[in-house]
Amino acid sequence: MSDASQTLTLLAPVEGVVIPLNEVPDPVFAGLALGEGIALDPLGECLHAPCDGEVVQCARTRHALTLRTDAGLELLIHLGLDTVELQGRGIELLVTVGDQVRAGEPLCRFDADVLALGASALITPIVVTETAGWRLLPLRYAKGERVALGETLMVLTRTSAEQGEAATTKGPLVERCITLALAAGLHARPAARLRAIAREHDVNLEVHREPAAEGASANAESLSALMNLGLVAGSPLRLIAQGARGEVALDAAEALLTTPEAEEHAAGTTPAVPTQALEKELEKELEKELEKELGAGELAGLIASQGLATGPLIVYRPPLPSVPYDGEGESVESPRLKQALNRIGEDLAKAEAQATRQGQVAEAEIFAAHGAWLEDPNLEAAAEARIGDGRSAGQAWREALDVEAERLAASGNDLMAARVADLRDLQRRVMAALSNDHQEASPELPEGAVLVAEDLTPSELVAVADQHPAGLCLAGGGTTSHVAILARARSIPCLVAIGQGLLEAAHEASLESVILDAENGCLALKPTPIQLAEMADRIEVRRQQAETARAAAHEPAITLDGRTVEVRANIGGAEEARLAAESGADGVGLLRSEFLFLERDSAPDEEFQRKEYQAALTALNGKPVIIRTLDIGADKQLPYLRLPTVPNPALGVRGVRLWQSQPKLLETQLRALLGVTPLKALNIMLPMVSEASELHEVRQRLESLAVELGLSERPRLGAMIEVPSAALCAASLADEADFLSIGTNDLTQYTLAMDREDPALASRADVLHPAVLRLIQATVAGAGGRCSVGVCGSAASDELAAPLLVALGVDELSVEPAQIPAVKATLRRLDTAVLAAKLPELLALHDAVAVRRRLGELLALNDAAPLATSSTTTTPTTTTPLTRC
Ligand code: PEP
Ligand code: MG
Repeated sequence: MSDASQTLTLLAPVEGVVIPLNEVPDPVFAGLALGEGIALDPLGECLHAPCDGEVVQCARTRHALTLRTDAGLELLIHLGLDTVELQGRGIELLVTVGDQVRAGEPLCRFDADVLALGASALITPIVVTETAGWRLLPLRYAKGERVALGETLMVLTRTSAEQGEAATTKGPLVERCITLALAAGLHARPAARLRAIAREHDVNLEVHREPAAEGASANAESLSALMNLGLVAGSPLRLIAQGARGEVALDAAEALLTTPEAEEHAAGTTPAVPTQALEKELEKELEKELEKELGAGELAGLIASQGLATGPLIVYRPPLPSVPYDGEGESVESPRLKQALNRIGEDLAKAEAQATRQGQVAEAEIFAAHGAWLEDPNLEAAAEARIGDGRSAGQAWREALDVEAERLAASGNDLMAARVADLRDLQRRVMAALSNDHQEASPELPEGAVLVAEDLTPSELVAVADQHPAGLCLAGGGTTSHVAILARARSIPCLVAIGQGLLEAAHEASLESVILDAENGCLALKPTPIQLAEMADRIEVRRQQAETARAAAHEPAITLDGRTVEVRANIGGAEEARLAAESGADGVGLLRSEFLFLERDSAPDEEFQRKEYQAALTALNGKPVIIRTLDIGADKQLPYLRLPTVPNPALGVRGVRLWQSQPKLLETQLRALLGVTPLKALNIMLPMVSEASELHEVRQRLESLAVELGLSERPRLGAMIEVPSAALCAASLADEADFLSIGTNDLTQYTLAMDREDPALASRADVLHPAVLRLIQATVAGAGGRCSVGVCGSAASDELAAPLLVALGVDELSVEPAQIPAVKATLRRLDTAVLAAKLPELLALHDAVAVRRRLGELLALNDAAPLATSSTTTTPTTTTPLTRC
């Protein structure tokens, strides 16, 4: 590989026939989800290193390995397709992780016959998974061409070299005077397009304000400089292009700047963040489903965590990632900055490509504009100058963007000022890439504030929760997101999916006092004194009800018809286990062990885990504790696992499937679990099980570990029912399992094909959909009394769903600790037999809205036929996620 110059060469690892990557019969490779590259149908039986580098990954099944070059580029060589199935048969690895290899050195030998028989193809993709600022040049091979071992296969160039070339273009100078017709002025997206025109035609393009005496001009390479010209609709300007294709470039630039933008692209309606199109969809959804009118100054949202609150409204902006102030010198900080810019640029390019694939034009353009802005040489130069003054790369970037943001804000042009949020986004992204500290300090909040935010990450929520906000309102989010789960765990009333209007309205709202009614899905921004007084009364009634429920929380929950239902706790670790015990939990129904693995640089070791699991068991004092093995993938990611990017992570390698690629991680967890006492209180639960063999394999592994450790007792082993296949095959799972627990959050998402994190679908991804209910019914029937069936998804604490689940035959409900007293109180007022008689009627309804409505009616019939008698409240409320004020 030639690395010294501006090019990198990758050699053919084996003699073979070329297959373009996008024609490989595997959607992950063909969709370029892992990166660009080429595939070879091998004619040899040994793979050689295409370049010098370090072996940074070898699949346990020996069919794939990754090399990293000194320049940071990462290359995946994937021997054959579906070769993982062979479990390493026919493949001999000649290197191991950490080995330094030279180009041409043998990496692995394979038996082509064994592979041809056991895998779907021998086709071997060679993919650049991490470009680190390099760009793949167009491939010189056509499909079907034969390449010899060691021949040049791919060439990459430095992206910065490309830009340098464009900047030094020579040729005739041409110019043109035009009047800007863009209603929104020269904002980020047209500026990005202007730069693309310059690059496409290989010209140096400048925009000058007219009259020339004012002297303001900007090169099209710099988005900031272009926007700082402050050009608005009607501004005269001069375009100057230098290069052989200057005239053509000017034609394109003139067409761009003198054609008014389409309505949806005008800046007044341009999304400031990539989610606005989704929010529009959401608004439409909500309008359809929610027919009730909102009062003035009221906003509707979905109830993620029930409750009531009043308090001053605070718009929450997460703090900037912390970076060192002083640098370690230009030679260290400069490359650091470049690396971070390249990384973020690649992330944005990927996001743009994905949005384009999904037909989200506006989002794609915004990502493109952010990407172009990131490459702005003026911004980088401003940061470099600060590095020269002794700042760290992160601090230099922060200061450079502060100056730029202030300049935009002070431009006097509202549309330009509105782009400050975009700039802040770039500031945060790059600083995060340069920050070692993942535990950012949270800003101080006033006592009892109602927090408003675009969205929060789980760790941000944990940080603000320590300051005890009275409530939380999010523009985005969904009711089964992990932020919603955490809000429920902390009893913070929370509305989500309110829409972008929230932030705009919040800026105008009085900071004095707002009302958050997370029983009826409403935020009142300008409540009258009478409304505030009424809400204070309601809060007091709820407080008294909660007190009564708490007093009986340690008693069993026995329904009116004599069924005992265990109410257990969903927790994230030992600390919450103590809370669960204090709240009257009959055990732990779900310990999400992944919380132990989050917010760290590496996985916790066996002893750390054992102590945490032991503390949970000790806190529950002999009551059953279900600990779920690591459930990572989709919305929950661990950076240190470096899981490959796949187009559909929710359908990918997650939960128990991770065993294939991360066997050590899960073995360590099993050992830690087997280290606790008493083992008879321990219940190990596997997430995302889709068939009984997965459970069988883990049971065997557990058994041999228990023998190896000389244990006389065995923990119970169970499976989560989160996938329709598991619900439908519950009988075969029950042959292997000691218990089943239904994860209604994922079961709803997979049954309805509605992403649980997608705010546009949040109101429809409802567990009460008859299809989901039928799968729950099938699970209980499949278990046939041979093993217990619990529910640990959010449905267990839904006031309407919980009684129905019990009527469907579920034995145990697991909810956030704070909800235990209230759920027990509800069950004690329930006659399950009467509700069970209504099941055929409910399951025959057409959709979740109809089920909610009917169930609401049935559960309110407390006088004539007590299904669930409601205790006295001053205000009649229906506390369902679809109910609005
Ligand atoms: C579920 O899917 O319902 C569940 C409990 O698991 P999680 O929410 O952690 O995915
Ligand atoms: Mg789940």
